Amino acid sequence: MATLTISVIVLGQASVPVARRIVDALPNATLYGLEHRTSGVDRSFTQFGETVRELFAEGTAIVGICAAGILIRTVAPLLNNKWQEPPVIAIAEDGSAVVPLLGGLHGVNDLARQIATVLETTPAITTTGDIRFRTALLSPPIGYRLVNPDDAKTFLADLLAGSTVKIEGSAPWLENSQLPISEDASLTIKVTEQEVAGHSDCLVYQALSDKRLAIIGTGPGSAEWMSPQVKEVLRNSTDWIGYETYLNLVEPLRTTQHRHVFDNREELDRAALALNLAAEGRSVVMVSSGDPGIYAMAAAVFEVLERDNKPEWNAIDIQVCPGISAMQAAAAQVGAPLGHDFCAISLSDILKPWETIADRICAAAQADFAIAFYNPVSKTRTWQLEKAKALLLNYRTPETPIVLARNLGRPGQQTEVKKLGGLDITDADMRTVILIGSSKTRIIDRAGGGVWVYTPRHYD
Ligand code: SAH
Repeated sequence: MATLTISVIVLGQASVPVARRIVDALPNATLYGLEHRTSGVDRSFTQFGETVRELFAEGTAIVGICAAGILIRTVAPLLNNKWQEPPVIAIAEDGSAVVPLLGGLHGVNDLARQIATVLETTPAITTTGDIRFRTALLSPPIGYRLVNPDDAKTFLADLLAGSTVKIEGSAPWLENSQLPISEDASLTIKVTEQEVAGHSDCLVYQALSDKRLAIIGTGPGSAEWMSPQVKEVLRNSTDWIGYETYLNLVEPLRTTQHRHVFDNREELDRAALALNLAAEGRSVVMVSSGDPGIYAMAAAVFEVLERDNKPEWNAIDIQVCPGISAMQAAAAQVGAPLGHDFCAISLSDILKPWETIADRICAAAQADFAIAFYNPVSKTRTWQLEKAKALLLNYRTPETPIVLARNLGRPGQQTEVKKLGGLDITDADMRTVILIGSSKTRIIDRAGGGVWVYTPRHYD
């Protein structure tokens, strides 16, 4: 497991001394205090619930110097996957009780023991005797993957009932686990580089190939729009490469990984660096926003791979992990404007000539697609959106609904529904995606104000 990032959270000044003892004793721990109620903390927050949920969603261990009930109620809406849950521990204000609540698969009991030692008390560990084996079996280190986690429960139950186990292959992380090893055991742990299926008598760990490059999409911005697969790949890697804004989006998940920050325009250099690092055996993640395959880095990597045709690059296993694209997030804000046939067009003429873009806008408008415009404007590209509007108005009425969505999932998020005739260049910036309705796209007034936008699925 990668090193855990720990947030120790206090709501009042009386808890700060206990919290500070914990933070000082643990690596990677930060003391969070409620603004205006605490001083001498590392970071202040204003919204307890939001802060805790955000940290939890990012996979940060939560140590709350507060009642267990408060923590439970706060994270309850997020509890849907025990494999993803980070440790959550409640601690009494005077440090007399340490209660591990969640995160059994990510070492909560070990963390509770460490904290209890600092506070000179005994942790209130409530899980059964399987603790001994559980962490070792369910959380293999970087470079290994448990192939059949769903079989682990029965496997563990058999172990606890007295079954013995034999290990096929090399599992260094199990050497000190006190597993009941025996040559003629009924249970097997298999470590292999192959893709082998497991079953309830046989846990299989796949030793991952050294040369792996993952290209991930973070989604538009906020942590809850990032897939669990993407978070796991980020955690289990050694190097992150990307544009600074995107690396900053995933910074809360970073533990030991190296950051390689690139300018947004140096895409092919960035792709070559990623392939070189992966070829050296580093576990590299190329970070894109939204979906990595939509106007983003996945295509850049394959372009460089094909152009340079280097044998050491061709041997790399490339994994593309999808993300929610801006058009999907934008559509979700207002209803279902992409409910029928649609297409995406980038208005950037850096990589393709404007004539091609203009032809595509006309073709898409003529075919009556709903259209998502990416890269509508930038500091240097200011006239394209006006031209696009003029072209669209040859085929669509000025009454056609449009959606302007800016900074989705990020601070400053804004979504506006307008009519095509009223589209203005100042409506958009580099972080805006624009959805243009088809001739069938409709608007419904919402009871509480505002509107829904949708495109019906049938086409008469
Ligand atoms: N791979 C990204 C797209 C990158 S191109 C994706 O799948 O979303 C960059 C363009 O995407 C921006 O100019 C803007 O049009 C859109 N975009 C990216 N992130 C956005 C966000 N958070 N909010 C609104 N639009 C966004």
